[in-house]
Amino acid sequence: MQLPYGEIHHAVFQFLLTHKAIPESQLLHVLTRLYQTLFTAEHDAVNAESVYQDILDGVLESLNVKLIAHKLAFAIRKRRSQFDGKFVVMLVNTQADEATKMAIDHGEIEIAIFNAALDYIFNNEDGETSYAIGQTNLINIMKDKSAKYTATNAIELAAKFVQEGWLIETSKKKFTVTDLALCELHDSLIEKYGLASVSVREEDDDQPFSISICPACDQIVTMGRKCPGGVVPCHVKFHLNCARRYKIARGSACPNSSCSGVITDEVEPTDRIGLPQEDFRFTLYYQTE
Ligand SMILES: [Zn+2]
Ligand SMILES: [Zn+2]
Repeated sequence: MQLPYGEIHHAVFQFLLTHKAIPESQLLHVLTRLYQTLFTAEHDAVNAESVYQDILDGVLESLNVKLIAHKLAFAIRKRRSQFDGKFVVMLVNTQADEATKMAIDHGEIEIAIFNAALDYIFNNEDGETSYAIGQTNLINIMKDKSAKYTATNAIELAAKFVQEGWLIETSKKKFTVTDLALCELHDSLIEKYGLASVSVREEDDDQPFSISICPACDQIVTMGRKCPGGVVPCHVKFHLNCARRYKIARGSACPNSSCSGVITDEVEPTDRIGLPQEDFRFTLYYQTE
């Protein structure tokens, strides 16, 4: 069902402008309320959730057409959250790299700090990817970049990165990259850190390729499960929920044809990153409410 372009489109766009990233279920709830308020006479005929899902898909599609027509550097993207596998709708900046995007709210030192944090997350100094950075290490990076950082204002800057939707704090007091940032920085992260699938690890390779793309959803993995590998180690990594869906749809053989590994999908109880803190997700999604 395609709504004529109007109030609902404006309201959904305003909502996305304010929140940047929002679980689809929340957006669906907002749209349902709006629709029932605006079209009270007809709303009795529209009460199945699937109807509202169709309306929402149509609204997002029309908004994307408008964004392209007006040559705006934004697009609406729907992605599965790597944290819980549920869909998130995001308003992403499609053109600039992270330095340009951050320049609006941050000075040079803060941008350098964010980039150093990304280096740590994707390319740890011992050549391994950690996919998260602990609070102490993040504070040390800040102190390295500028003497003005004390423990207190370093924590404030970390909180700012969280509030702006760049980083998310986990239950293990670690910071990792949000779904929104992974989506926005997708191309620049691959360019900077390289794809693990094309990695040829040699003795003198001082620049290991550390970005893994989930074979099920084509998005970057920072939280998930590594293929246990067959005879030789394997680069394949899945998001946890994606591994589950992939196994059901395509079987448990590793998608890497030279690997004899079997994909497992059990949740690791002692995941070394930890899960996002509920209240931080809340801050990200509802910061203005
Ligand atoms: Zn995935
Ligand atoms: Zn494998």
